Amino acid sequence: MKTIQHWINGSPAAGTNPQTAPVFNPATGQEQAQVALGSAADVDAAVAAASRAFETWSESSLTQRTQVMFAFRQLLVDHEEELARIISAEHGKTVDDARGEIVRGREVVEFACGLGDILKGSFSDQVSRGVDVHNFRQPLGVVAGITPFNFPAMVPLWMHPIAVATGNTFILKPSERDPSAANFVADLYKRAGLPDGVFNVVHGGKPAVDAILTHPGIEAVSFVGSTPIAKYVHEQATAHGKRVQALGGAKNHAVVLPDADLDFAANHITAGAYGSAGERCMAVSVAVAVGDAADGLVKVLERKALEVKVGPGDAPGTDMGPVITKAAQERIENAVTTAATQGATIVVDGRGLKVEGHEEGFFTGPSLLDHVTAEMDAYKEELFGPVLAIVRAESLDEAIALINANPYGNGTALFTASGEAARRFQRKINVGMIGVNVPVPVPMSYYSFGGWKDSLIGDSPIHGPEGIRFYTRPKVVTTRWPQPTQQTTAGFNFPTSS
Ligand code: NAD
Repeated sequence: MKTIQHWINGSPAAGTNPQTAPVFNPATGQEQAQVALGSAADVDAAVAAASRAFETWSESSLTQRTQVMFAFRQLLVDHEEELARIISAEHGKTVDDARGEIVRGREVVEFACGLGDILKGSFSDQVSRGVDVHNFRQPLGVVAGITPFNFPAMVPLWMHPIAVATGNTFILKPSERDPSAANFVADLYKRAGLPDGVFNVVHGGKPAVDAILTHPGIEAVSFVGSTPIAKYVHEQATAHGKRVQALGGAKNHAVVLPDADLDFAANHITAGAYGSAGERCMAVSVAVAVGDAADGLVKVLERKALEVKVGPGDAPGTDMGPVITKAAQERIENAVTTAATQGATIVVDGRGLKVEGHEEGFFTGPSLLDHVTAEMDAYKEELFGPVLAIVRAESLDEAIALINANPYGNGTALFTASGEAARRFQRKINVGMIGVNVPVPVPMSYYSFGGWKDSLIGDSPIHGPEGIRFYTRPKVVTTRWPQPTQQTTAGFNFPTSS
């Protein structure tokens, strides 16, 4: 069986640890590969390669870095289908959905292609007589990214194009559940002309992560994953003197007002809830039906949920694939059972679904739960599966209060025909990314992505302008070029301008 190796200094590397972990095909339930589990020594080897590469890469011209980013972007276009199939085979999502994540990730590369403009500093002439001030930003050094299973290409692409384009060198620790996309991308970078050692991959679990968080040669850590691990990463890495951005879990509400087009709202909420089997940090997991909207909305949502075609991700016509592991399948189905015992109504029951010819696959069908309340586990927990909970509210203000009381604050959406309601909602809601008649409001790459509250630990959203800020530090230079004959006296008071 194939062993997926690390990628260090421009080549595959077996690493020092003989232990490996299985990589499954979630659609068949079969093990399809093993992945190397990185040790502290492997992280050390990657840091050594990245530190050496930083010496020259940080001195490379903006033109050289821009050319590499353009070439890398073109290779992502040329190999989209191949990469999408790799993602689908290990993650389970449909090939079309995998293409979508590649395109959205590629947009960050496109943003990074404009680095000549993005990295411009500013200049102030004559701030005092004969004195000018300018600023510029420099890379940090070796930086690392630790990423989740649910977007094996896109989430790392939120990080490394900006880190690399701004002159840093990068170590990626991808999810051990779907590791192959990382190596594929590493090879594309090499073919794009990126010097060896600028982009490295160390696979593994907690030991590899811990080695990154404590390594003195790593300046910054970007993390995306569940909230408990985001908190741990933030705590450990900041305690070891690193800059950290740590994005966590989510519980995303879509509010439907009585004036909304119910069919439109239900269509979009269904796609937002069950697309990628609900394994998106921006998935809609709660529909808040306001006032008279409730009964009509439940009826349409039921019909749409029953229409979702569940199957292997590479079969044409599949809307939704399996979930990532057998453990996830069991956890999600148990959550549906618990919801019923706690008083929710199961409108559509996805438990126990079998896909013909794929009986051992990790499938669970779309589930729709009505009369869910804020006290139930199905509301409180991030289920990260194809389960949509409907909570009923009397008014928009009640819906806003419900969302603001939730510990997560990643994404939210409002379906309405009222501009006034939409404006009130976006001003009052304590959530970082908001959609108005848009169910999954993932910002474009030239904005930044990030939630509030437990969905983002620390203060740094990811990519866009915040990404540039995160991966660079500023210098401000105050300059005077006195004429050789000029007589000046240096005062002992603190300098002020004149
Ligand atoms: P996870 O937190 O289990 O794993 C994320 C990364 O942390 C992986 O690389 C994993 O190897 C590592 N890790 C896991 N346990 C660890 C431990 N005990 N110590 C150190 N490292 C550890 O997350 P996941 O299951 O891979 O992904 C799903 C989660 O990611 C969901 O909570 C989802 O909401 C979240 N997510 C958030 C965003 C966002 O932008 N906010 C985006 C995608 C996913």
